[in-house]
Amino acid sequence: MKNTNSETRKKVAIIGAGIIGVSTAIWLQRDGHDVVLIDLEGPAAGASFGNGGVLAASAVIPVNEPGMLKHAPGMLMRADSPLFLRWSYLPKLLPWLLRYLSRANVKDTRSAVKALSAILHDSYEQHLALASGTGAEKWLKPSDYVFVYDSRADFEKERFGWDLRKECGFEWDEFDADTLNAYDPVFSNDKKFAIRLTNHGYITDPGKYVCALADHVKSEGGEIVIAKALDVESDQGKVVGVRTSEGLVACDHVVLAAGVWSGPLAKKFGVNVPLESERGYHIELVNPSVMPKSPIMLVSGKFVVTPMEGRLRCAGIVEFGGLDAPPSKAPFALLKKQILQAIPGIKYDEIIEWMGHRPATVDSVPVIGPVNKENSIFAAFGHQHIGLTGGPKTGRMIADMIENRKSNIDLSPYKVSRFDQ
Ligand SMILES: Cc1cc2nc3c(=O)[nH]c(=O)nc-3n(C[C@H](O)[C@H](O)[C@H](O)COP(=O)(O)OP(=O)(O)OC[C@H]3O[C@@H](n4cnc5c(N)ncnc54)[C@H](O)[C@@H]3O)c2cc1C
Repeated sequence: MKNTNSETRKKVAIIGAGIIGVSTAIWLQRDGHDVVLIDLEGPAAGASFGNGGVLAASAVIPVNEPGMLKHAPGMLMRADSPLFLRWSYLPKLLPWLLRYLSRANVKDTRSAVKALSAILHDSYEQHLALASGTGAEKWLKPSDYVFVYDSRADFEKERFGWDLRKECGFEWDEFDADTLNAYDPVFSNDKKFAIRLTNHGYITDPGKYVCALADHVKSEGGEIVIAKALDVESDQGKVVGVRTSEGLVACDHVVLAAGVWSGPLAKKFGVNVPLESERGYHIELVNPSVMPKSPIMLVSGKFVVTPMEGRLRCAGIVEFGGLDAPPSKAPFALLKKQILQAIPGIKYDEIIEWMGHRPATVDSVPVIGPVNKENSIFAAFGHQHIGLTGGPKTGRMIADMIENRKSNIDLSPYKVSRFDQ
């Protein structure tokens, strides 16, 4: 319902129409505000298109957990490891990487887990609340989330993360090879152990889902402007619009939700958020002869295998290599090799390949909050591996901030100013 009070009704420009931007737009519209989504290419052009589709409430363990320091050097040397580095990018990456690695300790990991858990724990319900009545709910499915290991010993190597998940309230079933086979017979007999978490969910086509949410924004009177946002224009401290490649988009509030591309824009607002791309890859097996019954984390390859509409998407891998380099070949080859080993005999018509950019902060916690003292410009980016999962909650948090509604979440871990020290 439109807010007819001109004192309190705001015009909010949201830069970026990925899952974070469209979720924010919908919650702001439900508060009666006018919204305009500004995107370089249109909705779902970035990571929100090609992710694994998992509503991974349990994905609270950051990549830079304590084991990373021990395992990363060896992983970078191994051809079959899911961690890649484009060595020519290392000099540029180094300042960010050192700060990122400095958080790979128990204390900082615990802080990140707590902050991530607060925005992820009820993600399926958050998506349901966001998508209900928009037409996008048809892509939303409740499901288990199954971590498939080669052996129990491999699971034990990740015990630290699982203990932290237990502290967050997650419970699971443990499957030996026979129980896994009875649960879902698609997997190779080489997979000897699995963890089944209930109360998860997935999106059967993340790109179409985000586009349908954006269409809903439009049908509710929102605008979508295809343009490159360049800067925010202010007059005597008051925001008057976003300057874009296509001219000024008038507004009184701005939300910066441009994923990994938010870093340089934030700098223009005087905010320095160390942000890097954790490049991720997917392959899709089109018209597969078999599908797993729920989304799977194939732990040996650190990628998810998600049954999507007419295709099986295998998405994951971390590659440090910046925004400009083209996709590397090795991650695609690794995904293909591992999925064909995990589901032997699977047939398909063709393989589609994609690479995208996860926006990663050095503490693996997104930035959600005001960036100026007037509370008229807000940051909503840095959701690394969990942006699809945490998008709707992030949108709600920003809408609460713009409405001056008190949040029941401790907002301090997401503050923009935490990088000032
Ligand atoms: C391989 C892979 C697998 C993943 N799997 C999962 C998963 O299973 N579950 C999960 O929760 N998350 C997953 N993620 C992470 C998730 O996809 C991201 O965290 C999330 O999509 C980030 O959303 P966003 O809206 O912040 O950014 P994006 O979706 O990247 O959107 C940013 C938008 O900003 C626009 N933009 C950029 N610059 C400008 C500008 N100057 N002006 C205007 N517009 C601009 C872009 O065109 C783009 O549309 C995965 C990511 C990858 C890469």
